[in-house]
Amino acid sequence: MNKREFVKTLGAGIVGAAATGLPVGAAAAAAPDGTSAAPPPPERVMNWVWITPTPEPVPGGPPAPPPPTVDEWKRRFAMLRANNIHAILPEIYDGRKAHYASGFLPRAADDWLGTILPLARAEGLEVHAWMVSMPCNIPEMWAQHRDWFDVNGRGESSVDKPAYVDHYRFTCPNQPGSQDFIKKRVEEICSIDGLDGIHFDYIRHPDVVIAQALQPKYGIVQDREYPEYDYCYCDVCRAACRKQYGFDPMTLKDPAVSAEWRDFRYDSVTNLVNRHLIPVARKKGKKTSAATFPNWEAVRQRWHHWDVDYVLPMLYHNFYYGDANWVRDHTRAGIDRLREQKKHTQLFSGLYVGDLYPAGLTRLIEKSYEGGARGVVIFSLRQMNDRLWAAFKDATSGVA
Ligand SMILES: [Zn+2]
Repeated sequence: MNKREFVKTLGAGIVGAAATGLPVGAAAAAAPDGTSAAPPPPERVMNWVWITPTPEPVPGGPPAPPPPTVDEWKRRFAMLRANNIHAILPEIYDGRKAHYASGFLPRAADDWLGTILPLARAEGLEVHAWMVSMPCNIPEMWAQHRDWFDVNGRGESSVDKPAYVDHYRFTCPNQPGSQDFIKKRVEEICSIDGLDGIHFDYIRHPDVVIAQALQPKYGIVQDREYPEYDYCYCDVCRAACRKQYGFDPMTLKDPAVSAEWRDFRYDSVTNLVNRHLIPVARKKGKKTSAATFPNWEAVRQRWHHWDVDYVLPMLYHNFYYGDANWVRDHTRAGIDRLREQKKHTQLFSGLYVGDLYPAGLTRLIEKSYEGGARGVVIFSLRQMNDRLWAAFKDATSGVA
């Protein structure tokens, strides 16, 4: 199907039918009185973009470029809106510093969110605050709250031996102190007037197996699950597993084959999201969304069990040696899993544009819609250029 045909069929209600699971045309079946019932309006297509803050100067490094002015942000938001973007995801907490006026977290030099929120809203963009959830890279916390942090299958804390990279200092979803620390952030962020929603990123355990294309980058071969990347074996998790399933996971000869121990980890993250975080956001009238993995088992992130409003799987094809059809297939698989769980969560395909030519971006967008996505999410604003935006606008016009 070429783009024009695709847009035409989309307008005829294919998206709405796909979202309800009805065969195309079934939604417009005859009403009991013999008149034709009006088909439900297709669900609104929505496109998003992740926005990282301006990098802060590195001590001893070259001077940092000045942050964008208010006029520059106005120009950028007008450009986004003109190119069929409906929502922005500014990263306002990166695990180290708050880029908003937090009352308890270490803060970056400026209140970035305070600056851009009214400007984005004036342009008609929704604003969903992007928050790093589990990793904590605030050094004072490592000493003060060691017990909050994930422990691997060798009994090593993520404070001392973070997996892969320094910032992989994840906290545990079952430690009450860690839960409270995350909830406190959600509470504070969701109290900000004018925000539409909160976006949970890094809401998971570390990858027990990382994406195939990233393994050579780290010089590792992960042909199975190794204990140094496998979490969480802290005292609270071990005791809770013993209570629920009758065994201590530390004593398992091959933890990877225990379905109960897998479920325990999946449920730990799901409980944090559904029982602790979403109720806080809902109470404040905010929507919830999450950045998730297509290979969800590897990060213990069974996101099709979550009650978030929106899910934004990071379908970064090149991390997995995938192509555009891989994006379509994972879009479809995610929607199918949500439907099996009878969730109303709407799915948007997260696209990595770092190495793309415009024609490649067009193809990824078309395949995302073909897989049934409600829209796409671009990672990230910094990687986009005029040619990519022109392709984006063309691929999304008529469906936006
Ligand atoms: Zn734990």
